[in-house]
Amino acid sequence: MLAWQDLFAPEIISGKYSGRKDANSPHPARLCENRAFTEVPMPASVCTHAAEHIKKVKPHTKGCEECLKMGDTWVHLRLCLECGHVGCCDSSKNRHARAHFHATDHPIIQSAERGEDWRWCYIDEVYL
Ligand SMILES: [Zn+2]
Ligand SMILES: [Zn+2]
Ligand SMILES: [Zn+2]
Repeated sequence: MLAWQDLFAPEIISGKYSGRKDANSPHPARLCENRAFTEVPMPASVCTHAAEHIKKVKPHTKGCEECLKMGDTWVHLRLCLECGHVGCCDSSKNRHARAHFHATDHPIIQSAERGEDWRWCYIDEVYL
């Protein structure tokens, strides 16, 4: 069984999630007022990066690439869908998946945890 925490990205648990950016919606403010509960992430997203940034990749490593080099540990693994980099999640102290996004502008990661296949766009902060 998955714990409920496993169903949500650590980005959200740690409070970094700033709500959906409904850039394409003509009435983003009204949407927020009327439907506060839509702050809960929904599968439908406004991400426009998927077509350009999701490639057929294979994970480079079985663990976080940087943590393996440092001899460090991680909590969860995230796979970069643009280049196959494997990095550790935001619950990990090194946060290499996010660092990889900042270093490369590869915005989309997928959970590399067993039984999880959600994807996350760092730019839009939405699930895909
Ligand atoms: Zn996006
Ligand atoms: Zn790491
Ligand atoms: Zn990458």
